[in-house]
Amino acid sequence: MASQPETTCDESSEETIEVTESESALETARQQLYHAAEHLDIDSNIVERLKYPKKVHEVTVPIERDDGTVEVFTGYRAQHDSVRGPFKGGLRYHPDVTRDECVGLGMWMTWKCAVMGLPFGGAKGGIAVNSKELSPTEKERLTRRFAQEVRDVIGPKQDIPAPDMGTDPQTMAWLMDAYSMQEGETIPGVVTGKPPVVGGSEGREEAPGRSVAIITKLACEYYDWELNNTTVAVQGYGSVGANAARLLDNWGATIIAISDVNGAMYEPGGIDTATVPSHDEVPEAVTEYADNTISNEELLTVDVDVLIPAALGNVITKENAEAIDADLIVEGANGPTTSTADSILADRGVAVIPDILANAGGVTVSYFEWLQDINRRAWSLERVNNELEAEMQAAWDAVQSEFEQRDITWRDAAYIVALSRIVEAHKARGLWP
Ligand code: NAD
Repeated sequence: MASQPETTCDESSEETIEVTESESALETARQQLYHAAEHLDIDSNIVERLKYPKKVHEVTVPIERDDGTVEVFTGYRAQHDSVRGPFKGGLRYHPDVTRDECVGLGMWMTWKCAVMGLPFGGAKGGIAVNSKELSPTEKERLTRRFAQEVRDVIGPKQDIPAPDMGTDPQTMAWLMDAYSMQEGETIPGVVTGKPPVVGGSEGREEAPGRSVAIITKLACEYYDWELNNTTVAVQGYGSVGANAARLLDNWGATIIAISDVNGAMYEPGGIDTATVPSHDEVPEAVTEYADNTISNEELLTVDVDVLIPAALGNVITKENAEAIDADLIVEGANGPTTSTADSILADRGVAVIPDILANAGGVTVSYFEWLQDINRRAWSLERVNNELEAEMQAAWDAVQSEFEQRDITWRDAAYIVALSRIVEAHKARGLWP
């Protein structure tokens, strides 16, 4: 089984970090399934079913390189569970893409959509290719050819891809165009994360960071902390990290540390986050704006109220979990905490709000995009943000209720909410004999 790559970024960086402990996405997803199932009185046959994907499609994608040679890449689309609605999940272009990785990440999408109450199941796909080595025209040919190969298994009612590592809104526009050309009509709802000019949603790019900020605010309210008296450290100053940091800064929190791949800016008196460019604005410039720098490892262990890892997976490990000096961790990145670190943090009483809830703003606004595409009616940014806030509040309330009723972690509470909904749906629909 392949291990999870260093980052599980959606539309994002491919910088590497040396990690001392790593888990494959499939291992993590299965462990989390068993863990949640232990707390629930559920049919073991359904748990057995959920250990496996419904289908995994493997395709070969030949393209002509710019020099005239032909190269053949392998692509996958793993469709985990669709009991609650069409499959939904990212499409990544990365050399480490494997079948098992797609299955594991597809399972995570099933839990994420269920905890948010979205009418989607989980999927993930990808092509094993280094997208940085492709010219824009090669990337376009690869995307169009992949669209042709998976044409029968995607669609607005079947499976809806979105951007992920190595892919972006332009990739989704090509995929949508290729699919639409094959179908003979414009079908914007086949993908989400498109540019707004072809049916993308306002607020989609900002949404994962916004949901991290909303969940941080709700968690602070739960613990009776005034945001005005709350300090925050954020690892990663990209789409998720910078948007979360800036919103929390606007809402009164004091951001004392932010970082990028080169290191961290540390200002105990507070950082004016608007003046530091995000990864999208000027890549990897955080330390150039800093008077005082520390390493990324040190950022994880600064004395702070809230720590938001928003760069990479597997950064909070058994090696550093004892040294974490935050009272609350809100997971902005996918899978930043290993299972062993999670147990250590739980024993130490450090609250960890899991990724499947905290960064789910991305897939939630993707759902809004899909609704807008189906209805051929665009929403204003204000409406998107208001509806996102309402969805995050509803998901938080459901998770908080489980958290309070049982003596469990926030992660277990989120998985219990997700799994209960999936199991109820399976029970209601029944197993096809
Ligand atoms: P991004 O590329 O916009 O930004 C990544 C940031 O992390 C950059 O500032 C980069 O310099 C920094 N970084 C890279 N390597 C680092 C290292 N070794 N140490 C510290 N910082 C490092 O990426 P993003 O879209 O913000 O994604 C970040 C995380 O959030 C990923 O785990 C991704 O899977 C997850 N996520 C993203 C989305 C999304 O739609 N953008 C949605 C859900 C989850």
